[in-house]
Amino acid sequence: MSLADQIHVLTSEHLTLADTGEYIKAPPILVQLRAACTSTIAVGRGSGGGGMVVNSKAVKIENDLKEQALNEHYEMTGTEYRGKLVDLIKSWAEFEGDWATYLEKVTLGWIDDIRAMLESKRPPWRPSIPCPACSQRFYGPEREPCLSVHYWDDDAETIAPPSSWIAKCDGCGAEWNGNNLKWLRAASDTPDKVVARVS
Ligand SMILES: [Zn+2]
Repeated sequence: MSLADQIHVLTSEHLTLADTGEYIKAPPILVQLRAACTSTIAVGRGSGGGGMVVNSKAVKIENDLKEQALNEHYEMTGTEYRGKLVDLIKSWAEFEGDWATYLEKVTLGWIDDIRAMLESKRPPWRPSIPCPACSQRFYGPEREPCLSVHYWDDDAETIAPPSSWIAKCDGCGAEWNGNNLKWLRAASDTPDKVVARVS
């Protein structure tokens, strides 16, 4: 991608290749980053207490990015920037030569970091056992597995304590929190520590 392309991806709605192989419209990467900062995206599920869940990894990326953008502006122009981050980054499209090459690297680094953060959410574990509520293992015309277990703490990048796991049945809608998962451990005969390998 050229510098102009990368600035476009960061600051404007753009086309992106979906898992299905189709191109879909995606919000600006910086908007996705902002959304991730104060939502459960890439954090797993909240405690349900109604409080705002803050994704500390997203917040750190956003703060580092802002600081770097302001520093680069100062390096290039000798003046301090006052205004919107998006406008600052858009203005970089006008640079040419060495600065353009350098900014191409900077903006690509941001895009890679943000995308890696947004995609770091691990897929849930799909244990191959019947749902204790509806007794089904699969549901729907595609025969998808009923149960999903969210066990990964994306913020800490490790397996969450079992008490904060959440299991759901996509077939009947039943949901269990970590304190009600005895059936899961009994049925799957899976000690906590090997769950990551099983998934
Ligand atoms: Zn069920």
